[in-house]
Amino acid sequence: MNGLAEAAGCFALTHWVSRKTRPGFERWQAAALRRFLDRDLPRASFYGKAPAHLADLPITDKALLMARFDEFNIHGLTATQAWAALARDGRAGSLTVGASTGTSGNRGLFVISEAEKYRWLGAILAKAAPDLLWRGMRLAVILPQNTWLYDSARKSRLIKLAFFDLTAGPESWRGALEMFDPTVIIAPPKILRHFAAEDFRLRPKRVFSAAETLDPVDRPVIENFFQLPLDQIYMATEGLFAVTCRQGGLHLAEDSVFFEFEPAGEGLVTPLVTAFRRQTQIMVRYRMNDLLRLSGQACGCGSPLRCVDEIVGRMDDVFRLMSPDGPILVTPDVLRNAVLKADRRIDDFRLVQSAPDRVKLRLPPTLADEAAEAAHQAVRALLEMRKAVATVTLIRAPLPLETGRKLRRVECRLGPAR
Ligand SMILES: [Zn+2]
Repeated sequence: MNGLAEAAGCFALTHWVSRKTRPGFERWQAAALRRFLDRDLPRASFYGKAPAHLADLPITDKALLMARFDEFNIHGLTATQAWAALARDGRAGSLTVGASTGTSGNRGLFVISEAEKYRWLGAILAKAAPDLLWRGMRLAVILPQNTWLYDSARKSRLIKLAFFDLTAGPESWRGALEMFDPTVIIAPPKILRHFAAEDFRLRPKRVFSAAETLDPVDRPVIENFFQLPLDQIYMATEGLFAVTCRQGGLHLAEDSVFFEFEPAGEGLVTPLVTAFRRQTQIMVRYRMNDLLRLSGQACGCGSPLRCVDEIVGRMDDVFRLMSPDGPILVTPDVLRNAVLKADRRIDDFRLVQSAPDRVKLRLPPTLADEAAEAAHQAVRALLEMRKAVATVTLIRAPLPLETGRKLRRVECRLGPAR
C-alpha cells in the first residue's frame, strides 16, 4: 500500500466533492453509502449481511462497541488483544490500535489500517489548509498520546509533520516545537491558550482547535495572541467530523460520514454517525456524546457540506436536576453563558454538578470578589428560574492546566446519562 498515494487520492476526492452542488453531493453520498453497506459492513460479524436500508440497523454506542469489539472489526481482533497491543506499541500486525483518553473503564478503543490512516491525513490536509500545502507546510499536531497518525507522511517533501505528546506536558517539548516553527498548529484549546499565557515563540499561518469543545471564552485570547482567526477541527476517537473552511464555516465531514440527528432539546441535537469510508472497524449509526447546534444557512464558500453553528459540549455534561414539576435538564451552553455574562472579567471557571442537588462553581482567587459573587448569583438565578432544587457552592481556588484529561468547564459527575 502506497500511503502517500492514498493520502493524495483522498485529498483529491475531498476537494472534488467540495465543489459539487447539494443535490449532486447527495447523489454521490447515497451511492457511496450504499456501496459501504453492501461491500464493507457485512464483513463485520455483528452485521454479517447487507441491510435493505441504513435505518433497518440498530443504533450503536460506545458500551456496545466495547462489549463486542471483535464483532465490529473485520479482523475479529478482540478487545483483550487490542489492549495488549496498545500496551506494547499500538500495533496489531499491520493495524494500528488506539484509545481515547478518559477515566479507565470509559475509554474507547479503535483499530485502523495503514490506508485509513493516510486517508485521514489526506482529508485533514484537503480541508484544513489546501493552499498552504503547495508552498511546503510544517504541521504540528499536539494531541493526547495514541492518536492515530503518528508517523504517516513524515517523509514527504511537501509536508513536514511533527507530533507533540500532550500528556508529557508542554514544558518537555516547548523548545522542540519553537524550533520546528510550524505553519499549521492543531491542538486542544487549553494548550493554545497556554501558548498565549506563556508567550511561546510561534508564528503559524493557521491555528486549529481540536479534541476538546472550544469555549467562546478561549477564542479571543487565542486569536489575539496569534493575530489569526481560530479554526476548528471536530474529531474524536471515532473519526473526523467537521472542519472550519476558509470562510469560517464549520462544515460536517459528510464526504466520509453520514449523519443522522436526534433532538436533545433547546434546539440542540446529538449525532448518529455512519463512517462509510472506514473499512476496518465498522461504525454505523453510532451515537456520539456531543451536543451540536446545526446551522440554518449555507456557507459562503459554496461547499455542499452542511455547517454546524456550534459544538456546545457533551451530552454527559448536561446537568440533570429535580424540580417540583419533575426532572429537568440544563445544557452546558446555558450554564456557561450564565457564568460568563455575569462579569466581563471572568475568563475561566469550572462548574460541576457533583450530586443530584449540588452544584459547585470554582473561580480563581485572582478574580475580583464582586465578579465571583455575580457569577455565583447568576448560576443560582438561572437554576431558580428553571425551578431546579439545588445548592450552588462558590469555591475560590486556582484552575491549573491539566494535560491528562479533557478540559470540561461545565461537567456533570453523576455518571453516564444513558
Ligand atoms: Zn464554508
